[in-house]
Amino acid sequence: MPELLQIGGITATMRDRLEQAFTIRQLDDFDPQKISYVITNGADGIKPELMASLPNLKLISGYGVGYDAVDAEEAARRGIIVTHTPNVLNKEVATTAVMLLLACYRELLRDDAHVRSGAWEAGGNPPLTRTADNQTVGILGLGRIGQAIADKLAPWNPTILYHTRTRKDVPYRYYDDLTAMARDADVLICITPGGPSTHHIVNANVLEALGPQGRLINVSRGSVVDEAALITALETGTLGWAGLDVFEDEPRVPQALRDLPNTVLLPHVGSATVETRGAMGALTVDNLLQHLQDGTVLTPAPECAHL
Ligand code: NDP
Repeated sequence: MPELLQIGGITATMRDRLEQAFTIRQLDDFDPQKISYVITNGADGIKPELMASLPNLKLISGYGVGYDAVDAEEAARRGIIVTHTPNVLNKEVATTAVMLLLACYRELLRDDAHVRSGAWEAGGNPPLTRTADNQTVGILGLGRIGQAIADKLAPWNPTILYHTRTRKDVPYRYYDDLTAMARDADVLICITPGGPSTHHIVNANVLEALGPQGRLINVSRGSVVDEAALITALETGTLGWAGLDVFEDEPRVPQALRDLPNTVLLPHVGSATVETRGAMGALTVDNLLQHLQDGTVLTPAPECAHL
């Protein structure tokens, strides 16, 4: 049977299907010459030196839509296909973004703590919050998930703005300048890929433009936001709130972010439901099995679509 190198965790269902077609090898016990397939995830990807050490590698199947931790251009150059799991997680990640947005407006964590601590019973009502209705929402990265976020927010009657490198055929106002969009927005939702082109694209200027009543929601990659600048902005009141699913050095989260009352912090769980991870896992395995059968894949990364 062909040998599959496993990087990162997979579910029992994925393992059961894979074991029928592959011999699964772990990172601490494999022969580089024999590995023709790799399964990995968005966080772990594959290190360039590991990819370079596998002369017979044909396919890297990513369990996630973001593949910034895989050098897909180099893979394509070497004739290695990279696959990912687009679309099946759009709605779930959109739910996560909306959940963070609502938690920042309606102070979900603060008010939950108010009840748990006994402060309510002791006689105090918490201060009023701000409504999430009728806000101007700037979406940084209006792709598959960005559009799902816009759709899912519709009941809150937002005005949607967006920033991408190329204008899309959508009924929302386009900004070619992110800082200008942040100035006009109440909320900035980040949902671009990671990697060099978006590294620290949300910098101190963008956060300042968002302003003291502004909310930053990041469900993209930690690298997209300058985290040191974010902490300063939140500490000084330059920015109002931040709802974050991703961090620069995951799973390490700066103590400063944990100490702030105006943050909502999630452990990179944008797609982490049984249903959606099930669909992602199925697609990750389907790509591998189909390639084994006829050399084609279902969902190649765009860099590898020509292979
Ligand atoms: P898409 O490729 O469909 O959309 C990406 C969007 O980002 C496009 O609109 C693209 O437009 C824009 N974009 C890309 N580069 C830049 C740039 N340098 N500046 C501005 N805009 C840019 O991807 P998906 O919507 O499917 O996924 C987006 C990302 O979400 C993933 O790559 C992943 O990083 C993240 N994600 C996070 C999850 C989580 O658990 N928190 C789960 C799933 C995904 P254009 O090319 O015109 O610039």
